[in-house]
Amino acid sequence: MGQITLKQVRKSFGDVHVIPGVDLDIHDGEFVVFVGPSGCGKSTLLRLIAGLEDTTSGTIEIDGKNATNLPPSKRGLAMVFQSYALYPHMTVRKNIAFPLKMAGMTEAEQAKRVERAAKVLNLGSYLDRRPGQLSGGQRQRVAIGRAIVREPAAFLFDEPLSNLDAALRVGMRQEISELHQSLKTTMIYVTHDQVEAMTMADKIVVLNAGRIEQVGAPLELYSTPRNLFVAGFIGSPKMNFITGPEAEKHGAHTIGVRPEHIRVADDGIWDGVVGLSEHLGSDSFIKVDVPGIGVINVRGPGELGVHHGDRVRLAPAGKIHRFDAQGLALK
Ligand code: ADP
Ligand code: MG
Repeated sequence: MGQITLKQVRKSFGDVHVIPGVDLDIHDGEFVVFVGPSGCGKSTLLRLIAGLEDTTSGTIEIDGKNATNLPPSKRGLAMVFQSYALYPHMTVRKNIAFPLKMAGMTEAEQAKRVERAAKVLNLGSYLDRRPGQLSGGQRQRVAIGRAIVREPAAFLFDEPLSNLDAALRVGMRQEISELHQSLKTTMIYVTHDQVEAMTMADKIVVLNAGRIEQVGAPLELYSTPRNLFVAGFIGSPKMNFITGPEAEKHGAHTIGVRPEHIRVADDGIWDGVVGLSEHLGSDSFIKVDVPGIGVINVRGPGELGVHHGDRVRLAPAGKIHRFDAQGLALK
């Protein structure tokens, strides 16, 4: 089981109110991603769940039991950090078995669990190596192995991939998703990277200054962001925001149109000049300066034959998001 419920959880460090009050339900087996900009309180929230920080007020329930004041070791959760924190002098086998040894488990049971974790993580042929003889991705897998053997109610990951290079990150991201599919254990994963959030999560929790801006499935947040913050944070390149008379035409203070929802077309309504144009083969990204509106980012097909200095017309070709003066989405 791995059902986690936060009720009015607050955290202050002295006078600094980092988490002003969070309510959240995490269901058994869910892959939940906490995403938000650096400093918004993601790690703090995860550490509160893990028991590595004390709550200032509020309650944390794990599988229906009040765990607010339980020490980390009694919560049945396993945390995987960005720094792998492996013991350099120990073999992979000993590193993975370490928490079991500390818990006083028999050698036979330790060996069984290590074998099982090694199999799931494809570490079978590395068990007798030391961390220094492994790549970054393999070390990360060892750190995950050490969590798996504890058979926790939930895995907590704090930006586990940020030390890896881009290609390895994509590979590990897929491995963690596959791991979740095979273990079906609750996972809470913290990242500042909205692409990781979109690709891995069943449920995304968008945080901003310690507050939850929105909770939802990835495509729900993409298609119906509740406010300007979520609209601007989810999706890359960012949604275009337009204010002034153009937005007023739509009965809104601000309208938002995603770059992939704008076409370059002769019958377009916005007339502008192409600034930067990037051609990636699969896609083209252009910035168009539209007088009276501003710079509009457009994501077009790879073969979009448009270059710096060209005069183009743009047509919205997808949802136009509308927001009020407070930045809340209008229906
Ligand atoms: P994130 O993981 O989203 O980058 P953190 O949870 O690490 O953010 O930090 C949130 C805020 O809390 C930051 O402003 C940070 O400086 C502050 N903070 C975190 N830990 C402490 C601490 N032990 N003492 C004081 N302030 C802290
Ligand atoms: Mg952090």
